[in-house]
Amino acid sequence: MASRNSSAADWLECERVLDRVAGAVRGVLGSGRVPDQIPALASADPHVFGLAVATVEGEVHGVGEWRQRFSIQSISKVFTLALAIEKDGEALWTRVGREPSGTSFNSLVQLEQERGIPRNPFINAGALVVTDRLLTLTGDACGAVERFLRTECACPEIASDEAVASSEAEHGDRNAALAHFVASYGNLENPVGRVLDHYVRHCAIAMSCAELALAGGFLARHGVRRDGSRLVSRSDAKRINAVMLTCGTYDAAGEFAYRVGVPAKSGIAGGILAIIPGRCSLCVWSPGLDNKGNSIAGIAALDAFTTLTGWSVF
Ligand code: GLU
Repeated sequence: MASRNSSAADWLECERVLDRVAGAVRGVLGSGRVPDQIPALASADPHVFGLAVATVEGEVHGVGEWRQRFSIQSISKVFTLALAIEKDGEALWTRVGREPSGTSFNSLVQLEQERGIPRNPFINAGALVVTDRLLTLTGDACGAVERFLRTECACPEIASDEAVASSEAEHGDRNAALAHFVASYGNLENPVGRVLDHYVRHCAIAMSCAELALAGGFLARHGVRRDGSRLVSRSDAKRINAVMLTCGTYDAAGEFAYRVGVPAKSGIAGGILAIIPGRCSLCVWSPGLDNKGNSIAGIAALDAFTTLTGWSVF
């Protein structure tokens, strides 16, 4: 793929790259497991695959099911983190760390050892703390995320899927335990029930690969939104990207950095948002997950994309 200035020729080249990426993942489509802890997501088809690339100028290109919406799940944690930092700056980091956890995303053990300060904002306990802070700062954490996403994608109908949110809420004992545990150490400002409600609803927002790639564009533009206004400082964009690189793909961030080499955040419904600062943001989706919870075809696609283009942060 050619220069960073988009032109018709670049886009033809991009199309060829995306076709080759789609070809490269064909052999793994259908493999892996579709998780069942959120029953409303358990019937997803693991053969589905979509990939979209949004340039820093805001042009989007895709392959496969790149316009089909799916549940963004933990990818929402990137947006809650960015909005909390936008409104609260460094203060957030007294309540949540930024080290990889080395444990599963919903583990309770570490939380007790570290006295209610979650290791990072992308494990569930950390995301609950960020949601709590955003709730205090805005009065409506899920609404703040929805508004941001709608504006970045120029898509007013982006919204949380109520069926998915209720399905998770009905089976949310583990997240409730995490939230109560954090609260017992004085690290929640709002009632546990309210925090959980906003958390499951922002996880249940439905978006396509094209929309997520556009919404992540501010991280490729070093903190600048699609309309040219600044969401977070250049330093904060760098830091969010750094936390994505080290903590964004569950307990497999080392392997992901080794294979793909860019900041990314994955979700349990098979989406992965990846950022190539200064160039583009990408979103890939395929529901079959590996044993760490990352999309098998999604990682294979991003691996092929960064290999074919030579684009990465390294
Ligand atoms: N809402 C899901 C949960 O809390 C998100 C999981 C994920 O995507 O990692 O379990």
